[in-house]
Amino acid sequence: MSEERLSFQAEVSRLLDMVAHSLYSEKEVFLRELISNASDACDRLRYAALTQPELSADDPDLKIRLVTDADAKTLTVADNGVGMNREDLIENLGTIARSGTAAFMNKLTGDDKKDVGLIGQFGVGFYSAFMVSTRVEVLSRKAGESQGWRWVSDGRGEFTVSEADDVARGTRVVLHLKDDEGEFLDEQRLRRIVQKYSDHIALPILLGTGDDAQALNKASALWTRSRNEITPDEYKEFYHHVGHAFDDPWLTLHWRAEGKIEYTSLLFVPSAKPFDLFNPDRRHRVKLYVKRVFITDEAEGLVPPYLRFLRGVVDSEDLPLNISREMLQHNPMLAKIRAGIVRRVLGDLTKKAEDPEQADSYAEFWENFGAVLKEGLYEDYEHREQLTKLMRFRSTGAEGLVSLDDYIGRMKEGQDAIFHITGDDIESLRRSPQIEGFKARGVEVLLLTDPVDEFWIPSVAEYQGKKFKSVTRGGADLSRIKAESEPEKDQEKPAENDLGSLVAAIKLTLAEAVKDVRISERLTDSPVCLVADEGDMDMHLERLLKQHRQ
Ligand code: ADP
Ligand code: MG
Repeated sequence: MSEERLSFQAEVSRLLDMVAHSLYSEKEVFLRELISNASDACDRLRYAALTQPELSADDPDLKIRLVTDADAKTLTVADNGVGMNREDLIENLGTIARSGTAAFMNKLTGDDKKDVGLIGQFGVGFYSAFMVSTRVEVLSRKAGESQGWRWVSDGRGEFTVSEADDVARGTRVVLHLKDDEGEFLDEQRLRRIVQKYSDHIALPILLGTGDDAQALNKASALWTRSRNEITPDEYKEFYHHVGHAFDDPWLTLHWRAEGKIEYTSLLFVPSAKPFDLFNPDRRHRVKLYVKRVFITDEAEGLVPPYLRFLRGVVDSEDLPLNISREMLQHNPMLAKIRAGIVRRVLGDLTKKAEDPEQADSYAEFWENFGAVLKEGLYEDYEHREQLTKLMRFRSTGAEGLVSLDDYIGRMKEGQDAIFHITGDDIESLRRSPQIEGFKARGVEVLLLTDPVDEFWIPSVAEYQGKKFKSVTRGGADLSRIKAESEPEKDQEKPAENDLGSLVAAIKLTLAEAVKDVRISERLTDSPVCLVADEGDMDMHLERLLKQHRQ
């Protein structure tokens, strides 16, 4: 078959353009990306070989090699992992298959500085090779197949794919370095980069082609080492690799469970919101290993969806190595590991939330992931109490975030409910006529803007014996709460009869358009507002549902 010429997906072209033109500060990270991919490829082969040993039998010692050629000015990153065939090359190195791509693309502004920051969070993975190369060549042969393939591109809109002979199993990425990137031919430089970013990689990373080449890295799985031997930087780099993430971890949790079940967990809470957080599949991204062998990153049931912001690995000693991904789902061991993870993660979040010195840090976490955590309120009954205490709200009662306990502590005499209003954004909620009467009486109202708020409130219903009540419903009764300042007392109040005939006139005019017209205590400045009847759907929810049906 001759050479095929293909175009990059539009998103990739845009990304490559930005990679080429923006001054990405640390170009050396391209090496981390290529090594990370090589390591993933070896992980996947090792898993496949559990059931099909012939896939790796001819060359079973998985490793990564860096090879430089000063004359040709090339740096090669080679692995003997799972490899790619023609379709894989086109799909993986021509598109961005990663979820969240659309969300990411929508956020790009066209302003280079801001966009580079966003790319930093999203990551360019393989495409970062073009930061230092005029041309990138990928030679690959998939495990179990005999035909090898060559992929070539200069990163400007197109790439070619053709058959190639005598390609070893796995992938070789050959970088034809730009004139001013000669430093990446220097062995000392490469050694330092590997130690900085890739020391945690569990496979040997060798320099040169010789059989006596020494590994540049420790080549042991980071999570198997003890906590006090791991530096924050090592944790961070491991997080980047395992999470395909580029921010700093907000929280690092590393523990070993011993006893009836044994496993090691190394989990991270990101400090930036991942782009795929609100994908409908609600998949988590924690990788499951069994005795150091990667099994899957799709072990449904390992982490509940409301903790899907977690990244990291869980390595079990008890699960059988040959467990299929399908069998995993109903494995009771997995449920026990999940219970351990939930207990540990919620425990650590609680410590953060209760520590006044960590208030700002916890607020950051809450802004990123609060809306996800709230899903647990109706999905994980067992931890509802604990989750409720982790919740934070915007409110009319204070700047910043408040907890339900804060709210309860500030409740007025005669107040028997937790009042809230839901809507799309905080500022319009603050101006809402429906909360005027509450403000006048000094009654705090929680301002809720996450769509999920419409779902947990009816399910949780109350906290510490106080019911949640929407101020947009007819039943929110203020008459028993004394107003702090009641200027209207001195004013001449219209007689009840006058109001009665006004109400009758309005009812007549609006006819079928409204269910009822009532005199209310809730307004001070505005003459009227709309409310939902007690038994009816909340107004904001009604609007949300209408939007969804469109
Ligand atoms: P990510 O690693 O986040 O998926 P990348 O851009 O780094 O994104 O890589 C894209 C895809 O290309 C990978 O998911 C993988 O399927 C494939 N790939 C890249 N490098 C290799 C390799 N050395 N061996 C096998 N597959 C690879
Ligand atoms: Mg990658």
